Amino acid sequence: MDSKFKYKYYKYKSKYLKLKGGRKTLLLTGPHAFCNKHNINKTISETGHYCDSIVDKTLLLFREKFTEKFNYSKNIKIISNNKLRSDCDMNRFYCNKEKIRETRNEKFRQDITKELETTNIYFLLDIHSFPKDTENKNHDMYILWQDEQQRYADDLILYITQHTENTNINIGIYKGENNDIIKEAHEKKIPALLLEFKEIDLQNNNEIENRNIIISLVIDWVVQYDNTN
Ligand SMILES: [Zn+2]
Repeated sequence: MDSKFKYKYYKYKSKYLKLKGGRKTLLLTGPHAFCNKHNINKTISETGHYCDSIVDKTLLLFREKFTEKFNYSKNIKIISNNKLRSDCDMNRFYCNKEKIRETRNEKFRQDITKELETTNIYFLLDIHSFPKDTENKNHDMYILWQDEQQRYADDLILYITQHTENTNINIGIYKGENNDIIKEAHEKKIPALLLEFKEIDLQNNNEIENRNIIISLVIDWVVQYDNTN
């Protein structure tokens, strides 16, 4: 066998083994992403927010920017809920106040559990959006952490702040309590944060630009936890 050929063969083989054994994936979830045209602006008493109206678009933007940055060399997986929040709030332990159905038995949550247990997830980001007329309206995005995962939130906000000094971008940080998706990730020893994006005016270029900058910085920050190499 000529040595040039041999070299190529080993190169191919190690690349293959790396993909098989060391592949790491970023997981994004959207438990409140499903809206329909009759209900998009309604609120419901238990949760106050019927659906996260810009999450679908935000998840797509994450995927677009991620694959653009890494040219498909890194992995991202998105699991978006396609059922109404009024039927079951997938981000809580129970679907609703009747406390009969546990969300972890629902398909959307089982899909997440399967990913967490089988595909070597290095970070989970649970993506939400909030109406712009709420008390958090001054934030373009805020981070929720819980279950001893504060250091990730502190580190992310520091990273974004350092990279947005000359902009009007404003990020918040809060402690959450009952967010069951990031709780499940934590139980399985996977770092996880919940990100709430402001439901921006899609005609407002400054707000769109700010959101794009934030998503790009979140991606740059989170891939440090990818240990494919
Ligand atoms: Zn939400």
